[in-house]
Amino acid sequence: MAEIMEAHGIVIVGGGICGLATALALHRKGIASLVLEKSEVLRAEGAGIGVQANGWRALEELGVADELRKTADLITTYHDVWRQGDNKTTRERYPVRTEFRCLNRKDLIEALAKDLPAGAIRFGCRIATIHDDHPGGHGAVLTMVDGTTMKTKILIGCDGSTNSVVAKYLGLPPVRTIPRPVFRGFTSYPHGHQFENEFLRLRVGGFFIGRLTITDNLVHFFVTMPTPSPGTALSAMDLTEVRDLVLKDLQDHECPAEIIDVVRGSDPESLNLVTKLWYRPPWEVAFGGFQKGAVTVAGDSMHAMGPFIGQGGSAGLEDAIVLARSLARAVDVVDSAGKDDDDREPPREEVIGEAIGAYIRERRLRLVLLSLESYIMGVLLVRSPSPVVKLACIAVLVLLGSKSLRHANFDCGRL
Ligand SMILES: Cc1cc2nc3c(=O)[nH]c(=O)nc-3n(C[C@H](O)[C@H](O)[C@H](O)COP(=O)(O)OP(=O)(O)OC[C@H]3O[C@@H](n4cnc5c(N)ncnc54)[C@H](O)[C@@H]3O)c2cc1C
Repeated sequence: MAEIMEAHGIVIVGGGICGLATALALHRKGIASLVLEKSEVLRAEGAGIGVQANGWRALEELGVADELRKTADLITTYHDVWRQGDNKTTRERYPVRTEFRCLNRKDLIEALAKDLPAGAIRFGCRIATIHDDHPGGHGAVLTMVDGTTMKTKILIGCDGSTNSVVAKYLGLPPVRTIPRPVFRGFTSYPHGHQFENEFLRLRVGGFFIGRLTITDNLVHFFVTMPTPSPGTALSAMDLTEVRDLVLKDLQDHECPAEIIDVVRGSDPESLNLVTKLWYRPPWEVAFGGFQKGAVTVAGDSMHAMGPFIGQGGSAGLEDAIVLARSLARAVDVVDSAGKDDDDREPPREEVIGEAIGAYIRERRLRLVLLSLESYIMGVLLVRSPSPVVKLACIAVLVLLGSKSLRHANFDCGRL
């Protein structure tokens, strides 16, 4: 192994929503960390992200909720339009009972990053492999793709769902994929749009379409397409070509003009395409080994759950609060042990290991329930389940309080 170049207390791999939130939560508790991000700049693609009350509670704790509220209006209504094969359309409108706003991901990422101390994020730093610090030890040694190495006492993997090196080090199975392309973007209305402040969800001919108002002048949309036929290389196409293809498909399926116009008028710079959806099945979240000594995971690398209930990002924010709170308690224990008895070296490794264990115990049930709800919603939306399976899925969703969005009422507590 190459000579160790640097040593750190806490390293976070990945500067996405969860990695930045974790670094900010630790910073608010007076604990320093270093975020290693493989991109050269903050990654803010992906258009909009819906944040419900649970996410806003976490953003409050991080001290960024008020500034973010100024960027996005409240969404007050869910508006569901289901068009069946026989062209029969069902419409349902119901009020949103808790805080729900659609943020521009860029605003969220920048708000999380801007209060971090200078040098807290290191860009262009891709971790290739992770090794044990020493046999039986708690920390880890990271090797970057350029061969440099770094030692850390605590390692937090926030490196997302695809090829998470930290999840791999922990022995977690790779996340599963669903080949469903999602095309997203923003449409600007300089003179104001005519839509209600609503989340319109439209299901038509294998497409699942969403339109969320952000402000009077900005709307976010997504179009989840049916499974592409083999050979349709969407990812090789220019995003405006993908938009033309999507528009043609929507017209062929007689999609309402108000949706077609939103997609047609979208800002080319804002367009984004994901060709697959990623998830970790709920049983892996229930039984996964999320800890090895002082190494753990948070966010999508722990519990990728696809977009089906719009909770992946907010669950990562909750992880950040709970993990930072737990680690801060451990630091207090270590500090007070040091003050009580100057001759005795505080049992740092054990205390840190216990703090990470407490974080996982606190998060496990919450994450299993979210993953289960998202998984079942995915089965209903993506597959065509038999009537028996469909009935069973609906029964579980009733138990989970899906219709009343029980998941959004969760409070991860104070930082
Ligand atoms: C179509 C779609 C719609 C969604 N809508 C919503 C929604 O409305 N609301 C919601 O809450 N959630 C939503 N989600 C889920 C949400 O986007 C994710 O849960 C969230 O972005 C995950 O954040 P993360 O920080 O855990 O991972 P990521 O955002 O994937 O960040 C991981 C970071 O780690 C970096 N990285 C990876 N590997 C390495 C490495 N080896 N070395 C260094 N850096 C590395 C990456 O570059 C990246 O910046 C949606 C997801 C999809 C696909």
